[in-house]
Order: sequence, then C-alpha cells, then structure tokens
Amino acid sequence: MNCPRCNTALQTDYIDDCKTRIEVDICPDCGGTWFDKDELSQIENIIEPTFLEIRNIPAEEEQLETLRCPKCITHPRLQKAIHPRDKKVIIDYCPYCKGIWLDEGELEAIQQDNWLLIFGKVFRCLTCTRSK
Ligand SMILES: [Zn+2]
Ligand SMILES: [Zn+2]
Repeated sequence: MNCPRCNTALQTDYIDDCKTRIEVDICPDCGGTWFDKDELSQIENIIEPTFLEIRNIPAEEEQLETLRCPKCITHPRLQKAIHPRDKKVIIDYCPYCKGIWLDEGELEAIQQDNWLLIFGKVFRCLTCTRSK
C-alpha cells in the first residue's frame, strides 16, 4: 500500500495496548497512519507517551485535499469527516473498506482530548500487570 498523500510505500507498524496489538500502516515521509476497519476504535483510548506529545496538525487546506484509498484496488476517493472529539481534526475514511487515514498529529489530537479516560486506562493497565 502506498501513502494516499505522498505515495510513499507504507510501513507496517504495531501499536500495543496491554491486551491488544493492532497492526497499522505508517508513512515514513509524512507520518500519516492508515487504520483498517475497526482498528482506530481499538486504540483511541490507549495510552502511549508519544501520542501525548503536542504536534502540529497540517493546515486546513492540506487536510481538505482529496486523497484516494490506498487499499481498494479502484482507489475510491476518501471521504472527509470531522472527528466528533476534536472539530479541528479532519479524518479521511474510505466508504468501501471503512479504513481511516490520519495525518501526523491527528491521532494525538484525538487522544489529548481524552486525558482522563487515558489516565484511567493506564491505571487499570498498571493494576492488571501487577496482579499477574
Ligand atoms: Zn505520506
Ligand atoms: Zn478503501
């Protein structure tokens, strides 16, 4: 799969929670991330110190640029949607395979909005590690 924004080959990476490990595809050039259907919902609340860094979200014009699905063979256009937790974050999703593209910084922005929930999760994670 190639990056819908810069056409660089995406690299497989993993995001770990204490119970889940999900596979994502990350662009080494622009730092965007592709999530297959349902992957994003699994990790939105997961704590990762790097996700809490404040990073710049690309300018609005750039976010509104039309991108095409890297996964579907016909490369349908990705639809734009505003993330319910952060109106400044415009996510691109594919109406066919239900994959989601997040530009660099967007995942962090979604997660920052959710600090308390995140810390609650960490607390639970530490607790469950200890009881093992
Ligand atoms: Zn890219
Ligand atoms: Zn697709």
